[in-house]
Amino acid sequence: MKIKTRFAPSPTGYLHIGNIRTALYSWLFARKNKGNFILRIENTDFKRSKNSFVKDIFKILQWLNIDWDEEPYFQSKRINRYNDIINNMLKNGTAYKCYCTKKHLKKNKEKQIINGEKIKYNRKCYNNIKNIEKNKNKPYTVRFFIPNNKYITFTDTVRGKITFHNNELEDFIIKRTDGTPTYNFCVVIDDWDMKITHIIRGEEHINNTPKQIHIINSIGAHIPIYTHVSIITDDLGKKISKRDNNINIFKYKEKGYLPDALLNYILLLGWSYGNKEIFSLEEMKKLFNLKNLNKSSSIFNIKKLNWFNKYYLSKLSKKNMINYLKLFCKKRNININNGPKIENLYKIFPNRCNTLNEINNLCYIFYKCPNYQNNNLIKKYLNFKTKIILETFLKKLNNIKIWSIDNINIFLKKISFKLNIIFQKLAMVLRLAITGLENTPPINNVIYLMGKKKIVYHIKKSINFIINNKSIYLIK
Ligand SMILES: [Zn+2]
Repeated sequence: MKIKTRFAPSPTGYLHIGNIRTALYSWLFARKNKGNFILRIENTDFKRSKNSFVKDIFKILQWLNIDWDEEPYFQSKRINRYNDIINNMLKNGTAYKCYCTKKHLKKNKEKQIINGEKIKYNRKCYNNIKNIEKNKNKPYTVRFFIPNNKYITFTDTVRGKITFHNNELEDFIIKRTDGTPTYNFCVVIDDWDMKITHIIRGEEHINNTPKQIHIINSIGAHIPIYTHVSIITDDLGKKISKRDNNINIFKYKEKGYLPDALLNYILLLGWSYGNKEIFSLEEMKKLFNLKNLNKSSSIFNIKKLNWFNKYYLSKLSKKNMINYLKLFCKKRNININNGPKIENLYKIFPNRCNTLNEINNLCYIFYKCPNYQNNNLIKKYLNFKTKIILETFLKKLNNIKIWSIDNINIFLKKISFKLNIIFQKLAMVLRLAITGLENTPPINNVIYLMGKKKIVYHIKKSINFIINNKSIYLIK
């Protein structure tokens, strides 16, 4: 039997770390076993599904290099198929129409609560021919008839045997009054039609599994192998939620995380292979298995993700890094002819930054004029007391005969000695004057790369800023 897995997101929100983990595991399992991996867009929730989210799903998977086989499936295009099967089920009695009003259902529920009974639909409409005749033209739902056998058992790859007693289940709705089929129903029909052999998904779906198996049995389909992966929590042990922007995968793309770093990090959120931490895509495809999935939950930890990203950034080739920087500058309309060659910049960034964006923001300083914010840091370092440092720097700058990092370093030390100020303070004054930023690569590197002409221009600008901004200084 050819192994076939699927990733089946709903386009009702952004993809998050948990979604991508399911996609990754399903994809790796298929690739490892020379099977197929398909993409299915579960968009039967017409109110909440959006085309823009569908586009995002494609974009993100492509960005992460997760490729799929066959054309992507859309549930919205399969409504006729679902209806055909529901009509068959109505005919053979595995499903029935329910005309109960919301009011009736509510009343029934209240009664059950008072009597201390399990809350479930009371089967009022099952086999009630009179009811059907009477209500013929009224809106109805279609309910699945839970058979009277005692329980459903299935074996989960991670958790072993799981049993659900049928009296825990009610005759659940498979078609709503508006005519749309429900999630648990569509999923089963799709997996059947698409010949899915292995379902890998989050553990929140365990409770759906007995319902789905009931439908599978009623239509004579084959039961796939289920793997429910454990939840991901935040630092505090709370389950991560779709609404939490910290797990929105787009955010990481925009912030300049590398796809390889993200995949490597996500792979290990619930799976391990001895103490090995770094996995190339090829290694993942070769080594992934379901056996090593963790039973316990995993903690999403941004520090660890940053560690991976820093690692992959440091491995990025010069050519790729330069391409990233050029692309960034283009997006921000930064004229890279107005400053040092990008090729010279990239060397000073690796190991300083967690993300490409941090690198890009540093790159920015070489092509744009510093922007002095009226914050406390600027007030502390760019004022009438420190003006002398900037003036001395300008006056003596021509003493540097050969423009090199070492000579700039010697020059800065001399000024620090002459003015009797500690080097760190001198460096901070110059850093803010030249870049407007608190954190930059070493100041001698920045001065060297920026070039004398630009440095003079910026220092003069900072002195003007101090003069024009004296009101701020006086208040203090
Ligand atoms: Zn009913």
